[in-house]
Order: sequence, then C-alpha cells, then structure tokens
Amino acid sequence: MKAHIITYGCQMNEYDTHVVASELVSLGVQLVDTVEDADFVLVNTCAVRGKPVEKVKSLLGKLRKEKARRGILIGMMGCLAQLEEGQAMARKFEVDILIGPGAISEIGKALDAHDKFWDLSFRDDVNQLVAPPPKGALSAHVAIIRGCNHRCTYCVVPTTRGGVEVSRHPDLILDEVEKLKAAGVVEVTLLGQNVNSYGRDNPSYPTFAELLRLVGGVGIPRVRFLTSHPVNFTEDIVRAIAETPTITHYIHLPVQSGSDRVLRRMAREYRREDYLERIRMIRDYLPEAVLSTDIIVGFPGETEEDFAETLSLYDEVGFDHAFMFIYSARPGTPAAKHFEDMPREVKVARLQQLIEKQKAWSLEKNRRWVGREVEVLIRGEAKESGFAEGHDRGNHPVLVPGEQAKRPGLYRVRITEASPHLLFGEVTGKLYVPEPIEAASA
Ligand code: SF4
Repeated sequence: MKAHIITYGCQMNEYDTHVVASELVSLGVQLVDTVEDADFVLVNTCAVRGKPVEKVKSLLGKLRKEKARRGILIGMMGCLAQLEEGQAMARKFEVDILIGPGAISEIGKALDAHDKFWDLSFRDDVNQLVAPPPKGALSAHVAIIRGCNHRCTYCVVPTTRGGVEVSRHPDLILDEVEKLKAAGVVEVTLLGQNVNSYGRDNPSYPTFAELLRLVGGVGIPRVRFLTSHPVNFTEDIVRAIAETPTITHYIHLPVQSGSDRVLRRMAREYRREDYLERIRMIRDYLPEAVLSTDIIVGFPGETEEDFAETLSLYDEVGFDHAFMFIYSARPGTPAAKHFEDMPREVKVARLQQLIEKQKAWSLEKNRRWVGREVEVLIRGEAKESGFAEGHDRGNHPVLVPGEQAKRPGLYRVRITEASPHLLFGEVTGKLYVPEPIEAASA
C-alpha cells in the first residue's frame, strides 16, 4: 500500500504525523509525496479556528472525487476528527478511517479493518509510541505531555486532545532525545498543550523544570519548548532555563488579552498584573529573552476599553513577536454556546491596529540584533530569492545569501539589517554542517 499524509495545524500535529508515518512504515506501507501516487490518503486535521476547518472540508471534497474515480482509502485524524463537526464531514465525504488524537496508536488496526474504522477513545498507549528520528532532520519535536487541565472558554483542545493532562514517562522522553542527538539533530522542541504542567499528574516524574535540566544535559545544542500557560510558568522553570546553557531564551507565553474582564470571560486563570509579574520575573533572570505571545482579538463582549488594555499591555511588555488571531467561535465551546459574537468588521479593524503595533515593536526589537553575531540554524537550500532561510536561538527568521550557506546546518551569522519580520545577515563561520545523507553514506 502507498500512503500520503497531509498535515494541518500545530507542531503537535506535525509530531503526530511523524509518529503515525513511522507506524505505517513499520507495517510495510510506502510513503509517497502526492495524492495521485497514493491509495491511502490520511488528513491530519486542525480544529482550533474556522479557517483550517474550511481547508479540510474542501480537501475532503476533492478526495471524495478521487475515491469515486479510483477507489482510494480516505483517513482523517487530528482535532477535527474528535468533534461532531468533523464526524459529520467524515460521513458526508465518505471517510473510511477516523481516529482521534488519543487513538493514533490504532492506525495498524484501522488498516486491517475491512469496513469503516472509527476510534475516538483516549488510549494510554498513545504516550508509549516512540518514533525513530526523522531522516536527515536537524530539528525535531518530542511530545512530553498530552491533554490540558485548563478550560479556556474558546478552546476545543480539552475535548479533542483530552481534558486531563497525561505526562509521558521521562525515560521515554530522554531515550527519544538521546536518539535524536545520535542522529545529528541540533534542535529539539518539547511539545505539549501546556508543557509547564509536566509531571504534575505523576509524583514519581520530574517537574517540568527538572525535565528541562535533564533534556538540556543530553547535549543537543538547542532545546526549546511549546506551549506555556502563564499560571503554570513558575520561577523554578525560569531558573532552569537560566542555568542550562542549551535551553534557548525564547519564551512563548500566550496572554490572549490585556483586559481582566476579557480574561475572566475566557476563563484564563490569571489577570493582567499576574501576567506582567511573570514577564518581570523572566526579565530578571533572562534579560535578553525573546518574548512572543498569542492574542485573540474581538472575543465576545470585548469593548473598546478592553481592546485598549490589550494594546497598552503590548506596550508595557514590548513583545518581540505576537501571533494574533480574530476570535473564531468553535462549535461546542462555552464561548460559542453562551456569548454573542461581534461584527466581523470590528474584529478586523482591531486586528489591523494590533498588527501595526506588533510591526512597530518587532522592528524596534529586531534592530537590537544588528551588528551582533548569532547562531542560525539554516533549514534548507537557498530559495529562488537567492537567500537561505533559518532561525536563531530567539526564533527570529534569518536570511543569509545562499552562496554563504549552501547546506542545512548551524552557522555563525552577523546580523546586518532588520525588518519587522526578518533579520538579514552574513555568514561568519560554520558551527555544524553535516554532509548530505547520500554523500555521507556513499
Ligand atoms: S490552556 Fe491552551 S489548550 Fe488548554 S484550554 Fe486553554 S487555550 Fe486550550
């Protein structure tokens, strides 16, 4: 059998795709790059906002035509599969295999089934799955915790990925990280809906701060983590980052709103001042930390005053970067059930204002790197533009002339120019540039 996987959404989905792809390979399935070459097409879906859901819908429409034409098998996994909304789509578009994020370990059984296979359970063995290192990759993800104990009123994740946090066994995590190191990976990102909670569900496990120190000690040059929750982002975590040289000083701490009234309606369990207190603590330990955040604009009932508080919080923190979204009501969430959405044009106008603020701050923050040398992980060969792309330890996208970084690897780069979204630089040295796989194995 030949399978093709299409992935939408977050890094956790990318990681799950890699885990499922590895399972398929171990079952003798050949992975192919296009729908046309495949007789099994698996769509790993995202349900956090309306846009990715629409994309999945249109893709499933195309796949149903392909199925009618040449009888392919259609599979659906990821957050949308877990929701009634996705299941209705699966029925409509004749999806054969539907597995929720808690049941990806069932992919083998699903392929063996001769009829429709649906599994939406949350299985303990999902956390046992260990995927081999992705071939030739310099950067990789490792899941450390699944599910979320929080109940933000706009969010589908507790429904789709489990409403109880379950940490992976630390031995499995460390084993996976060791294998990544042996395979030449130079950057590992620890993943979870709320990584800061790691270990709280099992007293015999290390805390997240302790896990950071353990993973940081393996020797992979860059260790990062996503995502954090301000309530659980405690001082021991910041201290572990400050005292472990391999952990990058890039902190993504979603705030969502600067208004206490909106935070309360979102059921975010902190208030503006608590968040600012966390930022002060981070800056005390890590004065050069690169800070990014998530902000939802136009949450139901957000007044002009509420929005002004988000803008003023942005100024108070001076984020290096922000991921900004218009509120999109997700079926089944408390916010969608109980709160009236606001006019789209109001949300769009506020988003535009916030984007302007973000650009101004990002430009100012990015300019502080001009003239300095940073370590850049170049991910691929130069693009048509003539630039090779990478990112530094602060997660800034960095472009260098392609002829200076012909192969993926870690380079020393002097930053020469900054824009709101990019840093430009010149390569001043090679830190680790592996031979291409074909050449290395020849
Ligand atoms: S903490 Fe994050 S994943 Fe958990 S409910 Fe809130 S937004 Fe969703």
